[in-house]
Amino acid sequence: MKVLVCGGAGYIGSHTCVALLQHGHEVVIFDSLVNSSPFAVENINILGKSSARFVLGDVRDRDALEAVLAEGFDAVIHFAGLKVACESLEKPLVYFDNNIVGTLTLLQAMQATGVRNLVFSSSASVYGQPDRVPISENAPLRVINPYGRSKLVMEQLIGEFCLADPRFSAILLRYFNPAGAHPSGQLGEDPSGSPSNLVPYVAQVAAGLHAHLSIFGNDYPTHDGTGVRDYIHVMDLADAHMKALDRLDGGGCIVMNLGAGRGYSVLDVVAAFERVCGRPVPYVFEDRRPGDVAEVWADPSLAERTLGWRARYGLRRMCEDAWRWQIKHPHGFRREEARRLSLRRLSAP
Ligand code: NAD
Ligand code: UDP
Repeated sequence: MKVLVCGGAGYIGSHTCVALLQHGHEVVIFDSLVNSSPFAVENINILGKSSARFVLGDVRDRDALEAVLAEGFDAVIHFAGLKVACESLEKPLVYFDNNIVGTLTLLQAMQATGVRNLVFSSSASVYGQPDRVPISENAPLRVINPYGRSKLVMEQLIGEFCLADPRFSAILLRYFNPAGAHPSGQLGEDPSGSPSNLVPYVAQVAAGLHAHLSIFGNDYPTHDGTGVRDYIHVMDLADAHMKALDRLDGGGCIVMNLGAGRGYSVLDVVAAFERVCGRPVPYVFEDRRPGDVAEVWADPSLAERTLGWRARYGLRRMCEDAWRWQIKHPHGFRREEARRLSLRRLSAP
């Protein structure tokens, strides 16, 4: 297949691009690099043993998207978006503009160029505070922050579009908590500032970049009082996208959970990480983080039935791979970019 991967230089996109290349697909990455680095693209091509073409662009730029899509594509995978829930509380309009306008523009460009297959990155944030766990796809959708709202609106836009054009086919994947890295240690989560997600933060504490982890709340009604989440290895997510591409055909919109189907608390994650890295991860308990919920984990049985997909890697493997990435790239790619740039400047005549 020829696949356009919007946001393909980012965390989940980069791992998916490697899998696509390894399976012989032709890949074009369309990314503004607002939260990623050209180094990721270099490493995608090394690990994928083939070359993805890179186009620098913003998904809100319809002309740029149409110019690429007009080449003809079998499918689009749409990862491009802003993803930090607590940041979205401060900047809702930025999130609505980037995520919702970006997705609307992509749909318009796909319609204009006759590209009719889409895999979309949604999120467990559409469920907000669940009534019960595990969460199945028909659970109530009660978003609790603008990021979750943007995901819900995008799901609805895509769903309505599929209804209006029965030739359009979409699979909406609600990821739970992506974690881990490529087993080579050459790709991983590379946030621009301090990570807001638990696993990369724990890795940075273990590496000595922060004095301690702040654990947000130890009074939740969970087995040890800390928040419980369903961590899913990014390599498993990449595999699910491959299977979703194969399943896309003949119109309609399917939404499904991608999780491992079991929950771990923050303290479980800390203990697993300490075992893997062989160092203590100091932590302090702090107040609950606004907008957090106690316990979230998936019923992933629909993805198993529909795609033949299930998570293969457990928490230990996620921690091992995240730690390898942390050791090989202690400051992510951006610091390397700055170093290469300054070396080039210094060596310029
Ligand atoms: P990421 O930030 O690493 O990757 C997103 C990529 O999209 C980046 O390369 C960024 O530069 C690009 N991008 C953002 N806005 C863009 C725009 N307007 N035009 C072009 N490129 C743009 O994030 P990720 O973790 O890989 O997440 C991918 C998708 O999965 C996102 O839509 C995110 O909301 C969703 N998701 C992520 C998580 C998570 O915890 N990582 C959980 C659930 C859902
Ligand atoms: N968490 C924490 N300290 C951190 C980051 C996260 O205690 O520095 C907790 C958070 O409260 C939640 C879990 O770890 O219970 C997972 O948080 P993350 O931000 O990774 O994902 P979320 O489920 O919020 O999208």
